[in-house]
Amino acid sequence: DKWVYNFGGGDADGDASLKNLLGGKGANLAEMASLGLPVPPGFTITTDVCTLFYKNDRQYPDGLAQKVDEAVARIGELVDKHFGDTKNPLLVSVRSGARASMPGMMDTVLNLGLNDETVAGLAALAGDERFAYDSYRRFIQMYSDVVLGVDHYHFEEILDLYKEDHDYRLDTDMTAADWKAVIGQYKDVVSKERGEPFPQDVTAQLWGAIDAVFGSWRNERANTYRRLHNIPEEWGTAVTVQAMVFGNMGETSATGVAFTRDPSTGERAYYGEFLINAQGEDVVAGIRTPQPLTIFAKQKQGEDLPSMEEAMPETFRELVAVFEKLEQHYRDMQDIEFTIQEGKLWMLQTRTGKRTAKAALKIAVEMCADGLISEEEAVMRVEPGSLDQLLHPSLDPKAKRDVITKGLPASPGAAAGEVVFSSDEAERLAQDGKPVILVRVETSPEDIHGMHAAKGIVTARGGMTSHAAVVARGMGRPCVCGAGDLRIEKDGSGFTAGGRSIAKGDWITIDGATGEVFAGEVKTVQPELSGDFRKIMTWADRYRRMKVRANAETPLDAKTARDFGAEGIGLCRTEHMFFEAERIVAVREMILAEDKAGRETALAKLLPMQRGDFKALFEVMAGLPVTVRLLDPPLHEFLPHSDAEIEEVAKASGLEPAALKARAHKLNEFNPMLGHRGCRLGITYPEIYEMQVRALMEAACEVAKETGETIVPEIMIPLVAEVKELSTLKVRVDAVCKAVLVEKGQDMTYLVGTMIELPRAALTADKIAVEAEFFSFGTNDLTQTTFGLSRDDAGSFLPAYQKQGILEQDPFVTLDQAGVGALIEMAATKGRSARANLKLGICGEHGGDPDSIHFVEKLGLDYVSCSPYRVPIARLTAAQSAL
Ligand code: PEP
Ligand code: MG
Repeated sequence: DKWVYNFGGGDADGDASLKNLLGGKGANLAEMASLGLPVPPGFTITTDVCTLFYKNDRQYPDGLAQKVDEAVARIGELVDKHFGDTKNPLLVSVRSGARASMPGMMDTVLNLGLNDETVAGLAALAGDERFAYDSYRRFIQMYSDVVLGVDHYHFEEILDLYKEDHDYRLDTDMTAADWKAVIGQYKDVVSKERGEPFPQDVTAQLWGAIDAVFGSWRNERANTYRRLHNIPEEWGTAVTVQAMVFGNMGETSATGVAFTRDPSTGERAYYGEFLINAQGEDVVAGIRTPQPLTIFAKQKQGEDLPSMEEAMPETFRELVAVFEKLEQHYRDMQDIEFTIQEGKLWMLQTRTGKRTAKAALKIAVEMCADGLISEEEAVMRVEPGSLDQLLHPSLDPKAKRDVITKGLPASPGAAAGEVVFSSDEAERLAQDGKPVILVRVETSPEDIHGMHAAKGIVTARGGMTSHAAVVARGMGRPCVCGAGDLRIEKDGSGFTAGGRSIAKGDWITIDGATGEVFAGEVKTVQPELSGDFRKIMTWADRYRRMKVRANAETPLDAKTARDFGAEGIGLCRTEHMFFEAERIVAVREMILAEDKAGRETALAKLLPMQRGDFKALFEVMAGLPVTVRLLDPPLHEFLPHSDAEIEEVAKASGLEPAALKARAHKLNEFNPMLGHRGCRLGITYPEIYEMQVRALMEAACEVAKETGETIVPEIMIPLVAEVKELSTLKVRVDAVCKAVLVEKGQDMTYLVGTMIELPRAALTADKIAVEAEFFSFGTNDLTQTTFGLSRDDAGSFLPAYQKQGILEQDPFVTLDQAGVGALIEMAATKGRSARANLKLGICGEHGGDPDSIHFVEKLGLDYVSCSPYRVPIARLTAAQSAL
């Protein structure tokens, strides 16, 4: 088995196609090395080793040690140094790298190979004692934290005290002698905490670091990140060991990160940050304020510091040539890490850059225009779920705003909420349904859960590529970074900025597109969807097979759905039309009526209202298909609760309050979700459905006549378990339809179909299809009843299931393909066997979920129906599924 892949020195064992084996980082380093780009030589230990490591109780396979020894020796040959050599020491970095990028989640060790002796060699070699001892103390600190588990605050405390004692303000005030003194104290702390000295044997150091990186695959924050991003644990991480290059060897050295295009807007502008005389971690940590790469960016951000283009013009040109080469080669926007050691450029990483939805659209459209990618590829390049970011509000330009501070525009979008300062609290409040804005000095990987829970994030420190910025962009959370004048009170009671005090719990609003932070709640408006959006959606529609409809009842929702490209309504939940204040009394009157006559009186009041609703809906939909579902929910949802409500119904119906109360009590059910709901209402109280069908058909006839559109109403019966329920109701539906058509003297085609939302319906779908002209899979109820899992109560225990890996995903969000999916597949097959032209759709929440859409595309369903805001996501996903 080949567990170790070499790269550097002009070639490589692996390439970009081996991502699964070498991790993203290892595979791309190999690829860059083969392209002839300047990559410090190194090797990657494969993810297979990670898998074996965990399988064999954290033991490595036999023979790995020897392969690693050989690979280290190879690096030494290429850079003409030796690992552990006291005169000419080779130093390496040890980094993690999984198949999917997991920024900052796992461990890294730099400067490995330094000890009390090699540090002197490094000093002599570099001609810079200060640099060598600074490197050694960084190594001790990092290695102790990551590998030995000695908390970093010990080291920070020592350094802070030392600086205080010597009246130093900055690390740069420290001399070589100072660092030597600090190193002595660092080593003492390690001995005290660990009961043994800091390891001096460089091979032991190396294996310690390799163990730690493989071990970090299963640390708490990596586990959380994987859960949030659906990354399977089996993938494992690779470990890359690479010759160190130093960005901290004086004024001709630097380190930086860059994107080949702007990851926020997609603009075609090199974009990034660098720090002179610094090591890689300094940029990401956000401790010093980094400088922009280009003059353009400097002007745009209003920076004073010189850009790289000005400070290091020659290396900048070299870097730009690398950007171009990488974009042409990978045919996508790249996210790059580089280091300049004494004027020489080194590439440390490249990967496909994370981007906002807006940037993804722009980059895909422009790369297609440039002939770099095809239209189909452009469609595939945009992650459907990310479109959500574009479809949500931004600040109302006309709203009054009260700016308290301004930071960097790190991730676009507007958000408002209560101020909180800890991620745990953000999560807690969010669980109670409160919108929160997480305000931090800076964020670290430990804040992932809080950032996820928050509507938006503000940090006082850190640049556009700081942890907060990168993670927020990935999540689509609005984020303002590096709001420099923001000070959080030590006791966490509030913050000050711009001379103002904001208490914890106060509302603020942030605009991640401008970097502004406002006091209070600023009004927001719906987004203008840009040209790029329309273009990609048009292309998506070209490649899509399935139709996309919306779940909508109100004319406003229907209009939104159409604006987003819905091709019909797949589910109109008629009960939603019942809740308006003036109607609910009539609805209650109908439910509480003692007999058919009483019900009919109440229904007569509802009929014109329903007819009006349907007319409005048909008008908006202008001839597109509209599926109307007859009354479904359990009656208790409509029951009056307070005495005042009873009183209202009493007045409207002329019945005694006491009698009404008794009747309401009698209607109470132990298990309403499995009780008197859906078509069971239609069976027991047929006059309800008859009223609805009459209202619907009258509305359809009237709108058809007025507009000249051809309308084909689709009448849907919910919660059918047995074909006779459907056949019984269908007789009544047909009778009402015929009667209305005769009364109106009009002709109209209409369809009668059913929801498949109970397992028995799926199992007997061939029988049901004899009566039904269409099926719409109600995957909310079908999931509930297949799992025997209450849709309203699952929230209290499902998270534990996900945490323990019993269920990977919430089955109410992403379709359970093995169980619920199998029922759908069976029902589709059986249904079509009985009726070849049976129309099939899905209208549960899953209709807007990308994974679920891919699944139903494979089954050949005719359409998906989802909430209006998810229509674009469904259109794009359906196209990607079909491609
Ligand atoms: C369903 O059950 O999936 C469905 C669409 O209906 P409702 O959510 O109204 O029960
Ligand atoms: Mg249902």
